Amino acid sequence: MIARRSFLVTGAAFAIAPLGVRASVPPRYTLLGSKEQGSLVIGKADGLSSVKLDGKLLSVSSRGAFAFGLEYKQTDPARLVLKFADGETQRADIAPVVRTYDIQRIDGLPEKYVSPPEEIVKRIQRENAMVAAVRKADSDGIGFAEPFLWPAKGIMSGVFGSQRILNGDPKSPHFAVDIAAPEGTPIIAPADGVVVLAEPDFYLTGGTTVLDHGHGVFTSYSHQNELQVKVGDRIAQGLQIGLVGKKGRATGPHLHWGMNWFQVRLDPSRSTAAPAPERL
Ligand SMILES: [Zn+2]
Repeated sequence: MIARRSFLVTGAAFAIAPLGVRASVPPRYTLLGSKEQGSLVIGKADGLSSVKLDGKLLSVSSRGAFAFGLEYKQTDPARLVLKFADGETQRADIAPVVRTYDIQRIDGLPEKYVSPPEEIVKRIQRENAMVAAVRKADSDGIGFAEPFLWPAKGIMSGVFGSQRILNGDPKSPHFAVDIAAPEGTPIIAPADGVVVLAEPDFYLTGGTTVLDHGHGVFTSYSHQNELQVKVGDRIAQGLQIGLVGKKGRATGPHLHWGMNWFQVRLDPSRSTAAPAPERL
């Protein structure tokens, strides 16, 4: 059994107290998450009246939880201002921990996937826009606030943030985690959520599902052979949602598992209770 990772860090570890003024004030909030670049950070506090991140209001759940993401290459601190119902204000600057990303070379991909023709480029843009559109919602789901399960058993075959060099051409980084597993391996929901996109045959990502876990936190499931949920379904953590496949741009069967905070691409492996999926 792999020990559950605890990312519980008190505000004191993050707070940069300007001129030491607040050094002695105990934080009334906790922040969970790795605080590395590309990570989802979950905040919790009692008695909150509002939370701002870099000057913008974040939605706060009825249980006092909120979420935000640190960008893939973010170096500026995330600046939080927490206001409490009793009038106190607390601030925290969260400096992202810098990561070194891998370089991943993949050769032997069919050229139609690496440099697709014009009409296919249009289709890909249309499909990407559909995914981006559903990720605009700031829903009141609460699944985001708890540690995530791995959505499939298998072997981690691709990591977040690696620079892809496809058939020798540098492409955009890999903003997901790949779990290699045989076709037909069950995929489960890693957290409570609502299905906001379920498309059986996207060009690059094959069978694709997006779950909304609330407060801008979304996960996506690509290359599925079979989708087992539809848009609007409310899904409990652990429920089976589809089957691993190799549809779209894939050299073999695997689940391409993505996570977003709105349009910010995140590393889902930083939000799981265990550091790697269980082997099959
Ligand atoms: Zn992938």
